[in-house]
Amino acid sequence: AKGAGRNRVALYDEYMHERHNYLNRRSAELIDVVDTDALKYFFQPTMDLATGAVIGFETLVRWEHPIDGIIPPDHFLPLAKDLGLMGALDLLSMTAALKEKRRLTLAGFPDIKMAFNASPELLTHPEFINRLIWGVEAGNIHRSDITIEVLETTNFGEVQETSSHAAIIGDLRSAGFNVHLDDFGVGFAGLSHLATLDVTGVKVDRSLVKDILTDPVSQKIVRKIIELSNDLGLCVIAEGVEDQDTAAELGNMGCNVIQGYWLSRPLPQDCVDDWLRQHIQ
Ligand code: C2E
Ligand code: CA
Ligand code: CA
Ligand code: CA
Repeated sequence: AKGAGRNRVALYDEYMHERHNYLNRRSAELIDVVDTDALKYFFQPTMDLATGAVIGFETLVRWEHPIDGIIPPDHFLPLAKDLGLMGALDLLSMTAALKEKRRLTLAGFPDIKMAFNASPELLTHPEFINRLIWGVEAGNIHRSDITIEVLETTNFGEVQETSSHAAIIGDLRSAGFNVHLDDFGVGFAGLSHLATLDVTGVKVDRSLVKDILTDPVSQKIVRKIIELSNDLGLCVIAEGVEDQDTAAELGNMGCNVIQGYWLSRPLPQDCVDDWLRQHIQ
């Protein structure tokens, strides 16, 4: 038994060593990735529930790894955050979003809106607002066609950060951009943010949306979020809608916009035009 114990320790050490190497290698690769074109951007559409019209796309990053294939954002964004790369990565996502918006206009889809995800690191990045303004000017993009998705869990409440994050959202709004609170209903401060932040919409998190047909509590919460958002004049987007029945129920509840596999999975850039041609009325 003693031997087995020692073995386990040795195995554990080996495991930790491997893991350490793995993380070191991944970190080095991730730092390089910011300078290569290994990051790919997928675009997932949103639809107006009342009219069935396609409204726009959300930009979602993937890492196309030469050996491991496509790595989803949940697998490398936390590492990027630890490495202090989040702001840099999100500047790239923002640029990809503006480029695609511009490309869509030239391809004959001028009314399609574009959204991108903004980490707290992007919001406070010294280049953020300048590059955003520069990008829309250079691309001749209407600011009202651009939506910045800000996590509900962003630390708006922290004394030191309050002014910065809330003020940046104020700046974005006065510059004419849309700002949506993302993953709404998951954090604890969502409702209070609605009172203090000047946002244009909320995205109800998939964890609530997915159970509205089976779980009465999820249904009540989503119903109330939609009611409150409607009262406040905010756009409500339900994310993670995977079937027709959920979409119909959300419509009954007064939800404005849906996104999810039922409409479409996130699309690689070269599939966007074909998808639009098939879905635009
Ligand atoms: P999110 O902003 O809540 O984006 C929605 C996520 O749900 C996406 O995952 C999307 O592919 C997935 N999804 C959409 N519809 C459905 C559905 O019907 N069913 C299911 N099961 N999933 C659905 P993805 O692309 O893996 O992104 C995960 C998260 O990573 C995003 O969640 C977002 O928080 C973050 N993220 C992605 N790209 C970026 C980026 O460029 N910058 C930042 N800061 N965050 C990003
Ligand atoms: Ca989002
Ligand atoms: Ca212009
Ligand atoms: Ca979400």
